[in-house]
Amino acid sequence: MRLRNITGSREVIAESRYVVHEEVLHECPGKWHGIFGNDNPIHIEIGMGKGKFIYTMAQEHPNINYVGIEKYSSVLLRAIQKMEQEELPNLKFIRMEAEEIAEVFGQGEIDRIYLNFSDPWPKDRHAKRRLPSAEFLGRYDKILVRGGRIEFKTDNRDLFDFAVEELEPAGWEAKVLTYDLHADEKLMEGNVMTEYEEKFSSMGTPICKYVIVRKKDCESCNATK
Ligand code: SAH
Repeated sequence: MRLRNITGSREVIAESRYVVHEEVLHECPGKWHGIFGNDNPIHIEIGMGKGKFIYTMAQEHPNINYVGIEKYSSVLLRAIQKMEQEELPNLKFIRMEAEEIAEVFGQGEIDRIYLNFSDPWPKDRHAKRRLPSAEFLGRYDKILVRGGRIEFKTDNRDLFDFAVEELEPAGWEAKVLTYDLHADEKLMEGNVMTEYEEKFSSMGTPICKYVIVRKKDCESCNATK
């Protein structure tokens, strides 16, 4: 994500009612259904960028609650501007570093996690910062409900190969795995394109995707449905 320091983005975020603010995040674990005012499932996207994917998902699935997480104010600002044009009651945003995710959501509170076009961190010494790394899978394990799934899409084959290698030792299993999502008619049903996905697929780059569940609760899951 190209970054520009947009003047005032921090101030806009601080005042936005679409954002769950940093000062109250430590009080939030276990309280997210209360924040949305219903018992609907909660899906999150980590590294949502300008928010096209999560905003469209929230529009198309009003009975699911969505939380978009993004570390940069200048990018999050774009998602807030979309909400100002048309507010969706089932969508909230958080500006935070994803490493702290297990301090913001309670055990088993989240039904699904989306990772879309995550930063590749190509240097080996930065592997732990990659959002689909074993370290992050351990954090997701704490907040994901039994049978909950993680969906990851990327154009970056090296990052995808790394992510797939992390699964088995970390106790996860792929229910869906493709190296060319857009060539698979069935998997494309209901696919919502992210900003990066539009850009890379229009250039002819194949998009990789997996859907994973924990091995231990695989039998109870319905990830292939
Ligand atoms: N999901 C969007 C944007 C992909 S770019 C799309 O597919 O179009 C990756 C985004 O993730 C960037 O906006 C970056 O700021 C954010 N990001 C990367 N690492 C993060 C982290 N550790 N915590 C929160 N956001 C992160």
